[in-house]
Amino acid sequence: MIYLDYNSTTPVAPEVLEKMLPYFSEKFGNASSSTHSYGWVAKSAVETAQQQVAGLIGCEAQQLLFTSGSTEAINLAIKGLWALYSPRKGKHIITCKTEHKAVLDVCEFLEKKAGARVTYLDVDANGSIDIEALKAALTDETILVSIMLANNETGVIQPMRAISNIVHDAGSILMSDATQAIGKIPVNVDELGIDLLCLSGHKFYGPKGVGALFFRRRSPRVALEALIHGGGHQRNLRSGTLNVAGIVGLGAAAEFAQNNLENFQSNTLDLRDFLEQQFTEHFQVHINGKEALRLANTSNISFSGKAASRIIEVIKGSIAVSTGSACTSEVMEPSHVLKAMGLSDADSYASIRFSLGWNTTKADILQVFDVFKARLNDL
Ligand code: PLP
Repeated sequence: MIYLDYNSTTPVAPEVLEKMLPYFSEKFGNASSSTHSYGWVAKSAVETAQQQVAGLIGCEAQQLLFTSGSTEAINLAIKGLWALYSPRKGKHIITCKTEHKAVLDVCEFLEKKAGARVTYLDVDANGSIDIEALKAALTDETILVSIMLANNETGVIQPMRAISNIVHDAGSILMSDATQAIGKIPVNVDELGIDLLCLSGHKFYGPKGVGALFFRRRSPRVALEALIHGGGHQRNLRSGTLNVAGIVGLGAAAEFAQNNLENFQSNTLDLRDFLEQQFTEHFQVHINGKEALRLANTSNISFSGKAASRIIEVIKGSIAVSTGSACTSEVMEPSHVLKAMGLSDADSYASIRFSLGWNTTKADILQVFDVFKARLNDL
């Protein structure tokens, strides 16, 4: 079985797992226990992880909160900001049609329940937003602009520096869902001008169920209201006993990502190009987002005239890939990302996402291609 679904989730890297293991057993203390060494050891491990994650994204350790993953970080960022800014500044949010459901569903929730006005920016055929359209949409009442750094389905990377300049000129705040970008491209919150950033361990060889939210404390100072109360952990912004082993894993994964970023990019880029070349030469395909700047590991391919659900059926047992976003793949509707890029329903239904990882080899790609050749022509 060849796994090419690394944008959905990654395995925990052996060096990450090794760092986590003691925190399930002998170092099991509660990071909030201040009266004994069990607690101190746990607290110190959490602080180390904070430094490691901060090092990866170029922020200060105090600007990070640990969460259960990106979905929670996104909810805390958008709803936490909404609670404080909407009564004072305005009720307008700008986002983009190709965002992950974690962002879109929160925006929809605020529209329905709290009277938010949300602008959903279009993208062009390559999945990039139009900077001029963003400029035109910003008003004095825009409290937040939420644009993802890299798309989970196509890998398309948005021009974040240009976006942040415009958002800040208009006096607003920029959040970026960087769940797919972290560990795949260099991310520095100061260089990119991001004020709130969400990340998730299981997308970059860390454990599932742990992530982080970066929020800027000055220029601009971003204030948030907590969503989860009870115990006052993490400066009252996210209560609940810290998942120490998970946080240690997140920190170790951040270090792993930082040390291996260049290798990861060049390895996966070569293999991804090889995969696309093989498919383009032998099948009638369209590569979605091909002309845009993309993550090196991601390829979203439409197989004209063939339903992706049927393709998945005939390759099952041999290759693990996904159609649409993995998080929504149980719902059979065309990918909202590909639809926003102008694909017809038929072409959206004919699309498969290949996402490569650390362990992917050229032999894997050749085998994938052989399986497709052998089984696809029957469709
Ligand atoms: N945002 C993006 C772009 C994602 O790809 C995902 C997961 O697929 C999420 C958010 C949600 O992350 P989590 O699984 O950590 O809640």
